Amino acid sequence: MSLSSSSSLRRHSVAHVLSEGARYSSAVLHSNKRAHMASVVLDKVTKRFGSIVAVDNVDLSVAHGEFLVLLGPSGCGKSTLLRMLAGLESPTSGRVVVGGEVMNSVDARARDVAFVFQSYALYPHMTVRRNLSFPLIMRQFKPWYHIPGIGALQRRRLEKTPEIAGKVEAVAASLGLEQLLDRRPGTLSGGQRQRVAVGRAIVRDPKLFLMDEPLSNLDANLRVQTRTELSRLHRNLNTTFVYVTHDQTEALSLGTSVLVLNHGRVQQFGSPREIFNSPANVFVARFIGSPPMNLLHVSRLDAGELYVSGIRIEAPSVWEAKLRSVRDSVDDLLLGIRPDAVHLTEPGSAGSLAARVVGVENTGIDTVVALELADKKAHWRAASESTGDTKGLDPIYARVPTYLELKPDENVGCKLNVSSITLFRRSTGERVAI
Ligand code: ATP
Repeated sequence: MSLSSSSSLRRHSVAHVLSEGARYSSAVLHSNKRAHMASVVLDKVTKRFGSIVAVDNVDLSVAHGEFLVLLGPSGCGKSTLLRMLAGLESPTSGRVVVGGEVMNSVDARARDVAFVFQSYALYPHMTVRRNLSFPLIMRQFKPWYHIPGIGALQRRRLEKTPEIAGKVEAVAASLGLEQLLDRRPGTLSGGQRQRVAVGRAIVRDPKLFLMDEPLSNLDANLRVQTRTELSRLHRNLNTTFVYVTHDQTEALSLGTSVLVLNHGRVQQFGSPREIFNSPANVFVARFIGSPPMNLLHVSRLDAGELYVSGIRIEAPSVWEAKLRSVRDSVDDLLLGIRPDAVHLTEPGSAGSLAARVVGVENTGIDTVVALELADKKAHWRAASESTGDTKGLDPIYARVPTYLELKPDENVGCKLNVSSITLFRRSTGERVAI
């Protein structure tokens, strides 16, 4: 059954059951009095596949109980980093340290981590009950259970022990899976399979939860609800989560800290607020935020006043003193400004930049307007920076109220209202600290 046809009742139940799951898991943890301490440290970790450097000299340190999100475009090395934490890949160099213990040569099975994949990775030939109990059975499995006949017998015996059956049924009940226990994954919807995958992680009571794009197969509504519930699950479990995504909304809403990667290298590590408000470089500025941060060439910096295309940009007076302290070559400065700080005015109005509307997109909440400035030289051109191509012109984006009815090719004025200044050095892409 497709998720897009999910009834509101089922959507409600997913959110509800995950929160119940969180409550149950919290109870299990507390009753067990197991205090897992799972800080995560990566010390100059590099992973090469032949000539490909998938992860390049990554340093990182997060405390126990954090929700660390690994964020970046496709191929930036997120999954490889997660797989090294899981023990599914080993670093070419550097150290992976969890809970103070160097993990490099610790077998994946001995790491006490639970992995939830995008593809659920459930055993297709096993029922939901067996999928949930399997990790617990394997903990008690002895080598001689591999003798034909004995294995199956022992698995059934272990599955029925009060310890395992009780835990599986409690997790299943709290995740709303009781009715599905005797079904196989192939007969479940995507949302149901993902709940089984989360249940299989919870049942193990791991010290580290590793999740690789677990929401990407869910429809938009279910994603939002499941995101909220994952957050709650994290708070209740008091365990460290490491979560891979290329979706910045997911990263900013779930993470207590976010590691932004590109080409295997760390671009920035910080809280969601830091990443959004103070991007460390042009890559982060353009990767976070939808539409992305606008970048404009500064035309003059004079006695604490900032000009773009000859127009003075309004900024709080406190910034004047700071700008006065910047002793940079103006040619090398880019002003970063978020689309919600770009305001549209009548064409030709005082203090505005002349612009033309090149695109209009109604989001329902507001309208995203793409603009081309009359002074094209003021635009930062992403393509030309790396390839010398000057044809592609990155538009300037503005977020405006929906009641402003704008049409492509309309001429407008464009005012930049900066409440805090973000300046970048064009030559290096780095943010200028002022
Ligand atoms: P995506 O979001 O598309 O899953 P990712 O950020 O998770 O991407 P990785 O899967 O970690 O990226 O891959 C990083 C780089 O390493 C890519 O260039 C990829 O092709 C390469 N890579 C990953 N695994 C292997 C492998 N087993 N052999 C060779 N190259 C690999």
